[in-house]
Amino acid sequence: MLIDNHNRKINYLRLAVTDRCNLRCNYCMPENGIDFSQKETLFTIEELSRLSGILVAQGIDKIRITGGEPFVRKDLMVLLRNLAHMDGLKDISITTNATLIGPYIDELKSLGIKNINVSLDAIDRETFEKITRRNQYDIVYNNIMRLCDEGFNVRINFIALHGQNTQDILPMLELTKQHAICVRYLEEMPFNGGSRHFEANAWDYKRILSHIKEAYPDYGEIPTEATSTSMIYKIPGFKGTFGVIPSFSRTFCGSCNRLRITATGDVITCLYAQPCMNIRDILRGLSSEEKVKQQIMKAIGSRAKTGFEAQKQYKGEYTNSMTTIGG
Ligand code: SAM
Ligand code: SF4
Repeated sequence: MLIDNHNRKINYLRLAVTDRCNLRCNYCMPENGIDFSQKETLFTIEELSRLSGILVAQGIDKIRITGGEPFVRKDLMVLLRNLAHMDGLKDISITTNATLIGPYIDELKSLGIKNINVSLDAIDRETFEKITRRNQYDIVYNNIMRLCDEGFNVRINFIALHGQNTQDILPMLELTKQHAICVRYLEEMPFNGGSRHFEANAWDYKRILSHIKEAYPDYGEIPTEATSTSMIYKIPGFKGTFGVIPSFSRTFCGSCNRLRITATGDVITCLYAQPCMNIRDILRGLSSEEKVKQQIMKAIGSRAKTGFEAQKQYKGEYTNSMTTIGG
C-alpha cells in the first residue's frame, strides 16, 4: 500500500499517454501548441502497461488515462486491453475531448470501461470554437450522446472561464434534465503553457454555485466519497447531476489520493508542484521493477501537504501546460 508522508493513502494514478492534442483549448495551451515531446521520449504502450502493473502491485487500484488527447495515440486500445485484464485494478477511467473516441466506443464497452470524462466548455457552438480553436462541436456533442445511450457513466468537465463561457453555465445544466450526465464546473488553473497571463480566478466554486442557485434554488447535495475532489448536487426532477471542483481554491488537499505520471515519465505528486523525478529511464533499465517501486515510494514520501504549500515551493511563475500534466 502507498501511504504518503501526511498519512494519505495513494491508490489513484492519473497516467498521461501523450502530450499531443488535436484541439487547442485556450486555457490549456497557446494557439501554436507547446514544445511537444519527441516520440522516443514517450513511454511505449508496452512500457505504460508494465509501469501500470508495477504500480497496481504497489496498491494503485484506479487508473485514469489522460493526456493530451489520449485517442491521438493510435495504439491506445492495446494499453486499455492490457489494463482491462489486470488483477487488482478496479477502475479504468478516461478523460477525453471526445473528438476521436467514436470508433472505439463499442470496444470500450466490451472491455468494461464505464467512466468517461469529457471536456466540453460550451454548449454554444461559436463559444466552443473560440475556446478550442477548432470546429469539432458536432462530433463531440454526438459522441457524448452516444456514450450516454450506450450506458457509460459520462461526466462533462466545464472550466468556468471569465469573459468566455460563463453565459453557458445554466444552458449546459439543461443537459442534465433529460440525460443521466453529471456536469462538473471546474475552476481555471494557471497551467496554460503561456497561452495567456493568469492573474486570479474570477469564477470560484462559490460564485458558480450562487449563480446556479439563482436559477435553481432547490438543488440538494449528494454525498460523495471522502477522496472526491467534487461536490455533487441534484436539481429535483432532473435525471442527471451537477458538481463543482474547487481546483484553484484547493479545498480537497487533505484527502488527496492521487499520483500523476506524464507521458515522458515525470512523477508529479501535486498539480501545483514541479515534477519530483523522472522514472522513464529507470523503467527502461535493468532490474527496473524494484527500482521503480523504490522511486515511487520516495516520491510518495515527500509530498507537499497542500497545493498551496506546493505552490510556495515552486520556483517562479507556472509556464507548464495541462496537456503535459494530464489534468
Ligand atoms: N484532452 C483531454 C480533455 O481535454 O479532456 C484530456 C487532457 S486535459 C489536459 C484534462 C483536463 O484538464 C480537462 O478536463 C481540461 O478541461 C482540464 N484543463 C486543462 N487546462 C486547464 C486549466 N488551465 N485549468 C483547469 N483545467 C484545465
Ligand atoms: Fe487538448 Fe484537453 Fe488541453 Fe483541450 S484541454 S487542448 S482537449 S489537452
